[in-house]
Amino acid sequence: MVEKVLIANRGEIALRVHRACKELGLSTVAVHSTADSDALHVRLADESVCIGPPASKDSYLNIPAIISAAEITGADAIHPGYGFLSENARFAEIIAAHNIKFIGPTAEHIRVMGDKIAAKASMRKVGVPLVPGSPGPVSTLEEAKAEGAKIGYPVLVKAAAGGGGRGMKVAKTENDIAEAWSTARAEASAAFGDDSVYLEKYLTTPRHIEVQVMGDAHGNAAQLGERDCSLQRRHQKVLEEALSPALSQAERDRIGDVARKAVAELGYLGAGTIEFLYENGEFYFIEMNTRIQVEHPVTEQVTRLDLIREQITIAAGEKMSFSQQDVNFRGHAIECRINAESPTDFRPSPGKVTFFHAPGGPGVRFDSAVYSGYSIPPHYDSMIGKLIVFGDDRAHCIKRLRRALSELAIAGVETTTPLFSRLIEEPDFQSGDYHIHWLEEWLGN
Ligand code: ADP
Repeated sequence: MVEKVLIANRGEIALRVHRACKELGLSTVAVHSTADSDALHVRLADESVCIGPPASKDSYLNIPAIISAAEITGADAIHPGYGFLSENARFAEIIAAHNIKFIGPTAEHIRVMGDKIAAKASMRKVGVPLVPGSPGPVSTLEEAKAEGAKIGYPVLVKAAAGGGGRGMKVAKTENDIAEAWSTARAEASAAFGDDSVYLEKYLTTPRHIEVQVMGDAHGNAAQLGERDCSLQRRHQKVLEEALSPALSQAERDRIGDVARKAVAELGYLGAGTIEFLYENGEFYFIEMNTRIQVEHPVTEQVTRLDLIREQITIAAGEKMSFSQQDVNFRGHAIECRINAESPTDFRPSPGKVTFFHAPGGPGVRFDSAVYSGYSIPPHYDSMIGKLIVFGDDRAHCIKRLRRALSELAIAGVETTTPLFSRLIEEPDFQSGDYHIHWLEEWLGN
């Protein structure tokens, strides 16, 4: 049983979790930094606790403060959202040691998938195809050179503990390997406190295709279809679609089946995402995310399932509300990440939102914690909202997206909205003909 959920996050995802809890009849506890006292998740939650100063390390990453907040308020479950502590195995263990339910997978699964080398090894065991690469960490330059020659250039040096596109360097030829290897290691050490790196074949024009999966404690496992997240800048997703405009039904069934079997064999609990690169009709596993993802709403729109609700009930020990046969897809959904940034040079643009109007009407959903008069603090991620549009098919969805973008009004700060208005008029976007480098090429950087 779960009755009171502490939401260990902020922004739109904190609000999204709060909404799912309310629909389940559960009470909510918001935690917040001093910079977020006026945030919407704090205002809407049943209770709130200030857990520290603005810097994330002192607040949203402050495990003792979050546990204290849960104990003081009597919360019996914690939802970590995405980012912050959502993929911290130690956090999941500490929560369990306090007899509080962690709304997510087991600490063991978080740990294995958080180490990309271990993740690849465990996916290989359950029959998932991988990007060709070094079998383990590459800890000397000699090894890097030997592996590079074996794999064939170009190669990508990647951080084992990587995330958010950091600690990744391309070596086009053998001449670049020394520099790529040492910069990736330095970046990985600075960003993750772990300088382990490995090598992968660098695919030149793949698409990023990921499969949403879910498992429960009763042995049920399902895949909820794919999302195409190929429109990226600096390895960060900008716009996502469900389903992918690039896959045939046979390919969709094939990769969905691979993902479902992997989840079943792993005995995975809760929501997760298995990420692949897709090139020339082949899929290559890159990583598994053991949390809810930013782009989950596009899957919700095409499957009519509430993924956060499922996460909570699964953590409470219940069965998933559906089985694989119940998962069927209708229509098409697209999500645009609205960031408080300049739409031309992407400089962050925090500050006061003097006027805000969310788009509405049929097929339009705006997941955001922004309101008129809200001050976007400079301390956190610049994503302030997600415009999610659903249509009967992709062409209909794009027409609605054009209409919804024209209704969205955010004044006082710069946002990336104008970028999407331009992007959706591009013939390549309209035909679905793009790969992971397309957006940067289009932006000219
Ligand atoms: P992170 O955890 O930092 O997000 P991922 O492994 O998920 O890292 O990769 C992020 C993005 O980097 C992918 O969506 C893709 O655009 C690019 N990428 C990762 N691996 C490769 C590869 N082997 N070849 C080409 N691009 C890659």
